[in-house]
Amino acid sequence: PLVLGVETSCDETGVGIVRGRTLLTNAVASSVDEHARFGGVVPEVASRAHLEAMVPTLQRACEEARVRLTDVDAIAVTAGPGLASALVVGVAAAKALALALNRPLYGVNHLAGHVAVDVLEHGPLPEPLIALLVSGGHSNLLMVRDITQDVESLGSTLDDAAGEAFDKVARVLQLPYPGGPHIDRVATDGDPRAIAFPRGLTSGRDVERHRFDYSFSGLKTSVARWVQQREAAGEPVPVADVAASFQEAVADVLTRKAVAACREHGVEDLLIGGGVAANSRLRTLAEERCAAAGIRLRVPRPALCTDNGAMIAALGAEMVMRGRTASRLDLPADSSQSIELVQV
Ligand code: ATP
Ligand code: MG
Ligand code: FE
Repeated sequence: PLVLGVETSCDETGVGIVRGRTLLTNAVASSVDEHARFGGVVPEVASRAHLEAMVPTLQRACEEARVRLTDVDAIAVTAGPGLASALVVGVAAAKALALALNRPLYGVNHLAGHVAVDVLEHGPLPEPLIALLVSGGHSNLLMVRDITQDVESLGSTLDDAAGEAFDKVARVLQLPYPGGPHIDRVATDGDPRAIAFPRGLTSGRDVERHRFDYSFSGLKTSVARWVQQREAAGEPVPVADVAASFQEAVADVLTRKAVAACREHGVEDLLIGGGVAANSRLRTLAEERCAAAGIRLRVPRPALCTDNGAMIAALGAEMVMRGRTASRLDLPADSSQSIELVQV
């Protein structure tokens, strides 16, 4: 099926078109520059930017894919989770398309989209699989038995998301927003063993109960305190070493627990998705540890890891191919949609 996906959960306006599991186009317009001076996404600014970018992005997608809207078999849209004022723009646009074209509409979960997108690069998902979802707002370990309807959360972050930690630490190091890619870049010149930053929830009495949960706020605070002490002493801050050591701590806990989840559940396939999956150290360490544990690893290329419309189109296409019923045309945007609710 030819499926068009619309994504507006945060600051990217994405329109992707897929044919089955083949990517035709992935048009993305970002308002990230407009948020940079605030150090975070401003919902009203994002919402307005989505309104302005929606039609041009839709047109660009159709041109690039050489597709007419009337050729599209189904529409998929991010229903949640995300910023309410941003989500409603995409949902309204998708409803208008579905109504005008008289095609089925699938309101889907953004986070499931971060997993489903991998079919565009590596083919059908080997279900069941464990998915490590790491993004700006989420850090979860998921048991995916069927990406269209059966996703179970094994654990999540108790405080900050992994991407949030990257962005906050980048701020401490006076790197631009969003900080993840900058830490990744700066860290290549640093020593990951220079500073022993804490690995949250890997020791202590809560370990067993939280064996698949994460915590990054202690790490973030530890980095901030380390940098402050340097500055107070009038010593230069070794930015590359701090970035590399912080990144190592994040990649270490993320991969350690993901591999442990695979082992405990007897699952041989691990998928890493979400914006932080673009991180080069996370990718390398995951490869090493999965190889050592006999686990097959799938990570989509970086452009598919960050928010985009193709991930939503890919999940919509899976819905169509697996015979799922379409959503109602009056489906709501749900800013706090549970990770286990794949379709609304
Ligand atoms: P969510 O998916 O939870 O709703 P989101 O959509 O804002 O949140 P994504 O676009 O999936 O998040 O990911 C953005 C996050 O990924 C940001 O925190 C950003 O810093 C981080 N990120 C992007 N590239 C890298 C990288 N190379 N290394 C580390 N972090 C990265
Ligand atoms: Mg973004
Ligand atoms: Fe996302």
